[in-house]
Amino acid sequence: MPPPNGRLGPGYLTDEEKKNKPKVTKALIKRIFSYLKPYRLQLVFVLAAILCSAVLTLLPSVLTGRIIDDGLIAKNMKALVFYILLSFGVTLVANLIGILESYLNTWIAQHITFDMRNSMYSHLQKMSMRFFTTNNQGDIITRMTSDISGVQQIITSTLTSIISNAVTLTVALVLMFSENWKLALVGIAVVPLFVIPTRSAGKRRWSITKDSQACSDEINGILNETLSVSGQLLVKQFGMEEREYDHYETVNRKMIGLNIKESMAGRWFRMALGTFTNIGPMLIYLVGGIIMMRFDKSITVGQISVLVALLGKMYMPVNQLLNIQVDWIRSMAMFTRIFEYYDMKPEIENAPDAVRPSSAEGEVEFRNVRFYYDPEREILHDISFTLSKGKCIAIVGPSGSGKSTLINLIPRLYDVIDGSVLFDGTDVRRLDLSFLRENIGIVSQETYLFNGTIRENLLYAKPDATEPELIEACKRANIYDFIEKQETGLDTVVGNRGLKLSGGEKQRISIARILLKDPALMIFDEATSALDSISEQKIQDAIEPLIATRTSILIAHRLSTILAADEILVIKDGEIAERGTHQELVGAGGVYTQLYETQFSKATEHIQPEFSYSEGES
Ligand code: ATP
Repeated sequence: MPPPNGRLGPGYLTDEEKKNKPKVTKALIKRIFSYLKPYRLQLVFVLAAILCSAVLTLLPSVLTGRIIDDGLIAKNMKALVFYILLSFGVTLVANLIGILESYLNTWIAQHITFDMRNSMYSHLQKMSMRFFTTNNQGDIITRMTSDISGVQQIITSTLTSIISNAVTLTVALVLMFSENWKLALVGIAVVPLFVIPTRSAGKRRWSITKDSQACSDEINGILNETLSVSGQLLVKQFGMEEREYDHYETVNRKMIGLNIKESMAGRWFRMALGTFTNIGPMLIYLVGGIIMMRFDKSITVGQISVLVALLGKMYMPVNQLLNIQVDWIRSMAMFTRIFEYYDMKPEIENAPDAVRPSSAEGEVEFRNVRFYYDPEREILHDISFTLSKGKCIAIVGPSGSGKSTLINLIPRLYDVIDGSVLFDGTDVRRLDLSFLRENIGIVSQETYLFNGTIRENLLYAKPDATEPELIEACKRANIYDFIEKQETGLDTVVGNRGLKLSGGEKQRISIARILLKDPALMIFDEATSALDSISEQKIQDAIEPLIATRTSILIAHRLSTILAADEILVIKDGEIAERGTHQELVGAGGVYTQLYETQFSKATEHIQPEFSYSEGES
């Protein structure tokens, strides 16, 4: 993350920033300006306001000269009052224009970031699962938040400060030279004296700030990891409280040291600033006085005062303009980072001639499907099978054999590398994506619930569902008894990621969610994690009637689910090693027999032996 464009220390790039300087091309600039284009009228106003306010802010400095020469020295009361009132009026108007300028500025910046955030969010929503699994979640959020906020900073601060400082400096120089060129030259000679010490004090402070920033990141990291629900669970399980405390204390101590150093560096900085802002004018008085007394009697006291006043106004602009290069590089880097995301093409998009059938049956066919995440390692090789309407296929196989990968290909979370997946006889790549996904319901292994109420989570599947519909779905998913027992019923809050609920309860809520969606094809990725036999039975009771009536695919780990399927596909190392019914496979002595002996029979000891495949089918 780029450091904030604060007043102190922004003039120095970090080593990383120096290494990764962005390439500034015409296309990049053009692209940045394309975001400003819709607001060009407002920008013209801002520009005009900046110009007026810069000029008007300098005028009182010139009027100081008139106050001294024409008022005080000439002992002319009328002129004195007039120039003082004029000064006052000009300052007032300059400030009013300043307010207008910052309003317009903020307005434009907010609107541009609003546009950018929306388009970035909508772009990210289109990105494929691969994007989200390969990119760090923190990075994605940083682009959405800090980087785009940085754009706002560029417009409200960097851009305006460049324009207003350049204008202020130019006008100040013109005024100085028109007042008296000799004194103006003295003034210019004094400027470096103002700037150099404060810059070196700033540099030191900046290097401490960088260290303390890194330290603060480290502290945040520790807090994030150890004070999260899962983190705490791990700490407690391994009895690491003390070690985590020691770690935290060490970093915290380092932070204190840096903070003290930083605050003292700030003190030195202010001292340098104070000394030179005080000494600078003295030097002008001295040199100006010498010129006035010895060489050029035409120079007036007022002129010297004007010069001192103008110099005072030049200090900040000079210092800030010296930082422009850094601001510029940083801004360009930020835009480059943002555009990098915009330029990532969504891997999975609607085909231009995508078809949207009027209804769906939920039939699926895999034709010689090959798939890999990484070309080095193929996950699925030559998978072919057909699932007809109303039937149920159970997929079984060792962990990591590619079962979840296989089902992810149906709703196009990923696209096949070779072969094809057909939905109702049409290649999924030719179907309208929203049609495809509307008609497929997945209950995944890891149930995700948003932090909200049970009702809100259910309505996600069908926003206009009525109360009786919600209750019916919950009853069928075998979760209604639980909901009824809660004080607030459907309005019970599920907690962060649904952590206030048990695994079994979450699964049943997600089944209810799918029932509300009512898709043509249901995919159920059975959780491998062991649930107790009662909650397992409840889930079982919820899904069995579904399987019996719907086109469905199950990744099954339990015998009862497997028995309820019409066909079993045994996947091993990305291939269909065996297929058939339970009875056909169980005695064959292959992978299925092994799985049966090691997993299924144990996992479902409570299942009655008389529950047979043929019963499940009827
Ligand atoms: P389990 O029963 O344990 O859920 P599975 O049979 O469903 O396993 P998959 O999740 O399909 O297995 O994974 C198959 C292989 O693909 C694994 O070796 C896994 O490491 C790899 N894999 C899964 N997802 C990704 C991904 N997003 N990127 C790269 N590799 C992945």
